[in-house]
Amino acid sequence: MRHRVAVLVVLGLAVVSAGDREVLAADQAAPSAAVEVAPGDFVLPGVISLSNEQNAGQISNSGFVVGRDGVAVIDTGGSLVAGKRLLAALRAKTDLPILYVIFTHGHPDHTLGAAAFAELKPVFAGHRALPEVLASHGEDYLRAARALVGEANFAGTRVIAPTLLVDGVTELDLGGRKLKLETWPTGHTNADLTVTDEASGVLFLGDLLFSGHIPALDGKLTGWLDNLKKLRERAVRVVVPGHGPASMAWPQAADAQEAYLRRLRDDVGAAIRKGETMRETAATAAASERPNWRLFDDFNPRNATAAYHELEWE
Ligand SMILES: [Zn+2]
Repeated sequence: MRHRVAVLVVLGLAVVSAGDREVLAADQAAPSAAVEVAPGDFVLPGVISLSNEQNAGQISNSGFVVGRDGVAVIDTGGSLVAGKRLLAALRAKTDLPILYVIFTHGHPDHTLGAAAFAELKPVFAGHRALPEVLASHGEDYLRAARALVGEANFAGTRVIAPTLLVDGVTELDLGGRKLKLETWPTGHTNADLTVTDEASGVLFLGDLLFSGHIPALDGKLTGWLDNLKKLRERAVRVVVPGHGPASMAWPQAADAQEAYLRRLRDDVGAAIRKGETMRETAATAAASERPNWRLFDDFNPRNATAAYHELEWE
């Protein structure tokens, strides 16, 4: 049980009792209108919060790209209601058919809105490891999401596994507009995928980038830092983070997150060398980063624990 709670915490699904924890922006209304971050590239922002009844799991950024022949959706929010809100925001911008729904990774706040799109019969796309992730964790994701967003938001929510699987690079054509889907070595998770709109140069990073919301580590800390190093070299100017503003300037947008991940790596490494226990380390590592992030106490101890497991073998 302890393990399961820890796993859910890293997914932003912690059941927190109001009053004994700071839940910033938890009562903030989730936006209903999509922001056009570049011509034809839209983002429906999520609120920086854990999932709850008010936000219906709309706590991550979802996107859509409009081509000549159709639309690709990028991530779907964390419940059927969140997915329906995204569909409504999309329909306020275009009537074109939805050709693809692309998952940047498996976390429930990005995947559990998928059922809102199912009857439109898009092709669901994701990392080649994603079906396995959803098969092994999907039931836990659903159970936790139901408890957090409430039955009214949750009813009809289900896991939809991708059928178009990406291993390396795959290009999708929306009609005069190509999207480059690209998989990454284990970083935020073991199924991270980014989407580059080659027409506009906008890069949808999924949870390889957090801003404001503390990064949540469910993969490999050193891998995540390596991925960021490669991503920094990309000649793009605008990126969409998985959590944070609708769009950010690149590569400066990576600075704060890299500083956090490096601090975590260095503090956990030092604690291991000093012989500190995992418990001690989880309570102290990266504490200097606390003022820089929202939801710090919800994720930092779990991040430190995951980093400890990873780094103790190095
Ligand atoms: Zn995630």
